[in-house]
Amino acid sequence: MDLLITNARYAVTSNGSDEILENISIGIKDGKIAYIGTDKPGATKSYDASGKLIAPGFINSHTHLGMSLLRGWAEGVNLQGFLERVWAAEGAIMDEATCELGTELGALEALLSGTTTTMDMYLNPAATHRGAVRVGLRHIAGPIFFDFPGLDGLQWEQRIERAHQWKAVLAEIGGPYIPTYLMPHSTYTDSLENLTQVAAIAKELGARVHLHVSETEAENEDVQTRHGKTPTEVCRDTGILDVPRYRNIRCANNLWPWSSFK
Ligand SMILES: [Zn+2]
Repeated sequence: MDLLITNARYAVTSNGSDEILENISIGIKDGKIAYIGTDKPGATKSYDASGKLIAPGFINSHTHLGMSLLRGWAEGVNLQGFLERVWAAEGAIMDEATCELGTELGALEALLSGTTTTMDMYLNPAATHRGAVRVGLRHIAGPIFFDFPGLDGLQWEQRIERAHQWKAVLAEIGGPYIPTYLMPHSTYTDSLENLTQVAAIAKELGARVHLHVSETEAENEDVQTRHGKTPTEVCRDTGILDVPRYRNIRCANNLWPWSSFK
């Protein structure tokens, strides 16, 4: 064994029967769990976990890690006020280098709190992914889609091109395995035509889709006015919900789900 963790008060297994083991030792060899039991096999290093709980890593299913650099910049305001302040600050300081730096910081903070996997939607995903992988986080990122150029300055055709290149970019950066995701921002920043195109590309690439849906009541009203549909109905009618493996459509910050379907 390379490492033996001894005397843990509890070990939460997340196995088929969600067993919680007590007074247990866990041995690690070549980066994998090689022993679970009450004996104490020899190991190069050991750690006394008396009184402690061992659990699988937490998963943060939606974040914008690069924004750790903007922490505290928009306090005491509603979502609209928050977005106005943050978008202005992003325009002033967020480029590829700062996105990578902010994500590295956010990834370190995630690991310190026991979060080992994050679903991270942010500008310059290749840069953010490099920053997170550097510190060992399982970091799910993906190409971002807006109708307009946005802070990354990309035209729509360039976004499509990045989507097709994404698997190769991931392979080049390396790090823990992650599934391939495409990340259209939302139903209020992507047109019906463009969402339809993203859904088609996701099917073609065998990729999954992650987007914001119904974050606020105002968003629901806005999308309803524009399209005569709720954000969730837009996802249905543009084929986003038809991307294979339906459960892998991740809808973030779904705060108004009760008004999503009529
Ligand atoms: Zn978000």
